[in-house]
Amino acid sequence: MSDDVMVGIDLGTTHSAVGVVDSGFPILLADEEGRRIIPSAVWYGPGGEVEVGRKALRRRTVAPVVTSVKRLMGRRPGEVTDFPLPLEKAADGGLRVAGRKPEEVSADILRELKRIAEWRMEREIRRAVITVPAYFNDAQRVATRRAGELAGLEVARILNEPTAAALAFGLDKLGEKSRVAVYDFGGGTFDLSILEMQDGVFQVLSTRGDTRLGGDDLDLALAAWCAREAGVEEVDVRFIEEAERVKKVLSEKDSEVFRLPFYDGHRSIEVPVERAVFESLAEPWISRSIRCCRQAMADAGVEPEDLDAVVLVGGSTRIPAVREAVKRAMGREPDLSQHPDEAVALGATIQAGILTGAMRKMVLLDVTPLSLGIETFGGLMNVLIPRNTTIPCKAGEMFTNATAGQRSMLIRVLQGEREMARDNWQLGNFDVPFEAAEKGRARVGVQFRIDADGVLEVLARDTSTGQDTVVQIRAAAVDVSDEKVEKMVSESVEHAFDDMAERVFTEARLKAEELLPAVEQVLAMDVVLEEERGEIRQAADEVRRALEAGQANPLKAAVQKLDQVTEAVAARMVERAMEEALERRLGGG
Ligand code: ADP
Ligand code: MG
Repeated sequence: MSDDVMVGIDLGTTHSAVGVVDSGFPILLADEEGRRIIPSAVWYGPGGEVEVGRKALRRRTVAPVVTSVKRLMGRRPGEVTDFPLPLEKAADGGLRVAGRKPEEVSADILRELKRIAEWRMEREIRRAVITVPAYFNDAQRVATRRAGELAGLEVARILNEPTAAALAFGLDKLGEKSRVAVYDFGGGTFDLSILEMQDGVFQVLSTRGDTRLGGDDLDLALAAWCAREAGVEEVDVRFIEEAERVKKVLSEKDSEVFRLPFYDGHRSIEVPVERAVFESLAEPWISRSIRCCRQAMADAGVEPEDLDAVVLVGGSTRIPAVREAVKRAMGREPDLSQHPDEAVALGATIQAGILTGAMRKMVLLDVTPLSLGIETFGGLMNVLIPRNTTIPCKAGEMFTNATAGQRSMLIRVLQGEREMARDNWQLGNFDVPFEAAEKGRARVGVQFRIDADGVLEVLARDTSTGQDTVVQIRAAAVDVSDEKVEKMVSESVEHAFDDMAERVFTEARLKAEELLPAVEQVLAMDVVLEEERGEIRQAADEVRRALEAGQANPLKAAVQKLDQVTEAVAARMVERAMEEALERRLGGG
């Protein structure tokens, strides 16, 4: 049965995700940074290195990164215009980007998802369901299947994204002849599909899309507006990234300040943005999506009142104005019960579970009423099992020592929704002994496992000796009165902003404390060019000032700036170390 695992994959234009049915339930799997959604970005280094996801995007300033490769899948030269990177013609008549076929680039993304799944599941993964837009033609589907094979996956099924979404929302329970609309507004594309249930499976009645309409356009529009307000001529990548951040905040709040500290070395840009301004900028794009909706309904011959459900998919449907517009056009409240940017991957996972029979074994079980985690550096709560996770479940993470020579680590098992450990409830604590090591060198794995009876078992392992410490915590993890749960959750909402600010500050402070001594050391070396020295000093001073002032966002910005201005020096040091190593080798024969 161990060969039975099959993953579900949403291979998106801007973001991708992978999931698996575990103990009868579909779950998405998070990477080492705890994120379930990874950017569909790939960086190819000069020495043959490949980096995928956030790590690839961080390279954006040094080298070109391939993004939106999905737009090239199964396409021929001339079919794709205004792609951000140069395209070449391949010998087989297809396209090439960064010297590779689109399916090879997609394969690198799939390989990363496979790696995350194998790491989380602690087993080899060989089979997958991969989703594609309903409007993908045969060549595009074949290219997607090929990408899966190149990544070492047997592609059990290519599934339409709207069908996957319908599965995630549980619409397969609706019954024969029911009709649903899936409105998918992602990062680079928009589409609307009308599905109808026939013989227990959804058929696509009609689909209309716009492959040049997505959240990226909204980022650009907002970035351009902010640039105009600030009197800046050209919009660069920092403008677009900050615009995306502001856009996301405006889905929650009525206003937010667009900020680029030290934009050109000294001047800082600050533009207050009201939600209403963003909405008026977004309006033309939203209207275009609504026109697609009308066309798709006309194509399928359905009226809004014929629909049994309308579901929202894609990160951009978190925008309140988008939800409003869909509600007006479709004449009904959209179903908001799933995370819009996770629904497709979740549906692919359910399909994989159905194919292997893992879903049928499903039994209704309890969920964890509150999040469970442990305290980490700086007094932060580190959640291992989020609230509402179905039990049985398990999750683990690697931790390290905060000071050199430390011989043990106090594990405090916490329950609650607050960002700071002290605001949560302590379920128990125990000491884990480990071998003394340099700061940050000890490796202690902590695993939480909740069995079907709600018993929480915490296991801590010193990976260098393999020695385990196991502690059982009975009942408390699952048995909490509704009243207490309600109180904790409402408190966490009440304190959300302060809590978040404190977390941001603590994280930035830890980073600053690591960075500052390293920067001092580097400044004393000759790898630093004279013209860099002043800039680095200034950035380091700014970090110290922000630390003293004790404010979260300025500190975070200052730390980012310092990171950025030292990037070139760091790269040079690595290069030099490599050269030296090489010389030693050659010299030593
Ligand atoms: P795709 O399927 O196209 O790869 P997603 O469904 O993950 O992409 O959607 C990504 C888009 O959603 C991005 O443009 C991102 O900025 C946007 N997005 C994510 N969260 C929010 C939010 N809270 N508010 C507005 N837009 C958001
Ligand atoms: Mg998508």
